[in-house]
Amino acid sequence: MLPTRTALSCLARSCCINAAVTARGMQQLGLLFALEPALRHLYPEAEARAQAAAHYSAHSNTHPYMLPFYMGLLLNIEEQVAEGKLPSNALDTVRRAGLCVTDTNLMIPRKSVTAILGVSDHPVKGKLAGCGHCVLRTRCEYRKRGKTCASE
Ligand code: SF4
Repeated sequence: MLPTRTALSCLARSCCINAAVTARGMQQLGLLFALEPALRHLYPEAEARAQAAAHYSAHSNTHPYMLPFYMGLLLNIEEQVAEGKLPSNALDTVRRAGLCVTDTNLMIPRKSVTAILGVSDHPVKGKLAGCGHCVLRTRCEYRKRGKTCASE
């Protein structure tokens, strides 16, 4: 886990995400600037840090409200890469999956959608468990059959 000071430094820098927007790379420079304290912590050696920074040289564009969440995802993966738990190309999954974004922010292949889902290493309990918060709870086909999506 990143030290609090480093994480807060990244968060503070995330406010500058749109300070260096370019037509081709969009927020790539701002994202790298925001992630730089964490990369400096995770990769003390200059060469390893430069290689990690190169992962962010491609196009990047997100809504500033979503940026802390997005950075959290990236840094979580980056920490695991630095610890050797994930391969160095783990952040390249989008390209490996065959998805890319054009200069005009069009996702290729067309009609591609992105989504984020959570995976837990322990059973989810309490208010978040069950159907109480699910948008499908009033018309769910599983529940009509007396089952849940977790049981099938
Ligand atoms: S069983 Fe149906 S209502 Fe419950 S969480 Fe799954 S999809 Fe939602």
